[in-house]
Amino acid sequence: MLKLATLLENPGEPQVQTRYQDPAQLKALGYNGLVIYESTALSGIQNTDAIGSDEMRRWVNARVDHIGQTIQAAQDAGLAVYLSYDVLVLPVHVVERNINGLCCKGRPQTLCPASEQALEQSVAGLASLIGRWPEVAGIVLRFGDTDAQRLPHLIGNDLYSPHCPRCSQFGRADRATDFIKRFYRLVVEEMDKRLIVRAWNVRPGGMHDVPDLAKRIAADLPGDPKDDRLVLSFKFTQTDFWRYQRWNPSSLVCGDRPIIYELQCQREFEGKGGIPNWQAPLWRDGCPEVAHLEGEVHGLAEAVDRVNLAGLWAWVRGGGWGGPFVKNEQWIDANVFAVPLLADDPRVDLLGLAEKWARDRLGVDDEVVAPIVRLLEDSADFIRQAFYIGPFAAGRENPWHPNADWVQDDLLDTRSAWRIIQTLSESQLDELMAEKDNAAERIGRHRAALQQVVSDRRHPELEPLVNTLLYAESFFEALRDMVGGLVAYRRFQKTGDTAMAQIVKQKLFSAQDHWNHHTQRFGSLPGAATAFREEDFWDVTQDIIAKVDG
Ligand SMILES: [Zn+2]
Repeated sequence: MLKLATLLENPGEPQVQTRYQDPAQLKALGYNGLVIYESTALSGIQNTDAIGSDEMRRWVNARVDHIGQTIQAAQDAGLAVYLSYDVLVLPVHVVERNINGLCCKGRPQTLCPASEQALEQSVAGLASLIGRWPEVAGIVLRFGDTDAQRLPHLIGNDLYSPHCPRCSQFGRADRATDFIKRFYRLVVEEMDKRLIVRAWNVRPGGMHDVPDLAKRIAADLPGDPKDDRLVLSFKFTQTDFWRYQRWNPSSLVCGDRPIIYELQCQREFEGKGGIPNWQAPLWRDGCPEVAHLEGEVHGLAEAVDRVNLAGLWAWVRGGGWGGPFVKNEQWIDANVFAVPLLADDPRVDLLGLAEKWARDRLGVDDEVVAPIVRLLEDSADFIRQAFYIGPFAAGRENPWHPNADWVQDDLLDTRSAWRIIQTLSESQLDELMAEKDNAAERIGRHRAALQQVVSDRRHPELEPLVNTLLYAESFFEALRDMVGGLVAYRRFQKTGDTAMAQIVKQKLFSAQDHWNHHTQRFGSLPGAATAFREEDFWDVTQDIIAKVDG
């Protein structure tokens, strides 16, 4: 069973300080492989010394050195190493010399998926990469997304989106399988390594989120279907790592092809692990908030009977952009800890798992285990209540962007919340307020319980965890009162009721107060993540307060 770990680092962002940079830590947790993400920056490059700009060449060569050290350290710790590689991506200096041959007609910034030369250059780049590090166990290939836009020495795009006279007749399934077959020949047949193909597409309408397309692609793949040298990789969610997601239906239609599931330990749309957000129940049993059809697979415990499960792949750190930047990794660790154990037993006992984590990883005694376990068990649900607008998310047909990005990374978008609120019915508004109330009430209860044991039992080492809850509580309270104020304002607009105007002001002043506490105080406590940021929070709340006063 593959138990892979990866640490995603965003180009241009400061390097994250994390215990998992030490591969021995991952090995001790039961992982057997490391996927190196940074090698996406070497996609398509045959010769790093040919890169034209001095600065870029130095940057790329420094990255090569760093990757070499990471490979060495991982292998010393006993982990197999996989390198990430993007198609369709090529270096700028190669593309500039052959725009007609490589790019879409009339689009010099787009690599053409129907260009035989582009495919050959891309394969040659990978051959060069493996030639540099022949000791690696395999390659992780991505074709539905790329980092090239953020890497000035590269040009690239996903395989699906280009459209020009040369490639417009080239269907989606054929684009994928043509590339996979060519890379299979290199990686599996010529080099006898494992090729893990990521189904992921960042834009809707690809293999990852369209089961029919996944089925057609899987049916046309090379080699013996059961040969685990070719593995298909899916995020466990139908779209991105959101809630209100079915167990990825595309992953269930690939016949005997080995499947690995990607699990995000630091959930990028839900505070990134600065707030407890224990994923093991969702991984094992799926999202409980989704209404399920008869016979449908809910979670891994059922998927294991339906797919040829090759393993699990933890995104240990990373995903998303910017903050919150997490200083205390404990809540993330509860997820990192669970993945290898879930791979060993997809029906693992969740209570036992939570208790084991609290004892083994936090090192707390029996009296403290119980409140920690209750907190973990409750966490994914209060996170859902805080970060989503349930009555909006549950009613949508489209599984992408279930929270309409009203909270994205560390940014609260107040106008987006207001737009959503204007679409809801009266009873949905009540439901929404109850949801936000409940989230704040529950985090407050867990904070008080943990605070109590920390002071009673003299556990000063758990103080940072209490701080993460104070941080979360102030944020949830700000959301509760902001939403309450917006709902009241919507009702005021209908009725002009002066009592309602008072409620609007009271809620919005309270939201501002909690927001100040969150950003100015709790976001800088030891152990707390960096505070959330706002877009238009002050403008919108002040504007509404002025209007109801007028
Ligand atoms: Zn084209």
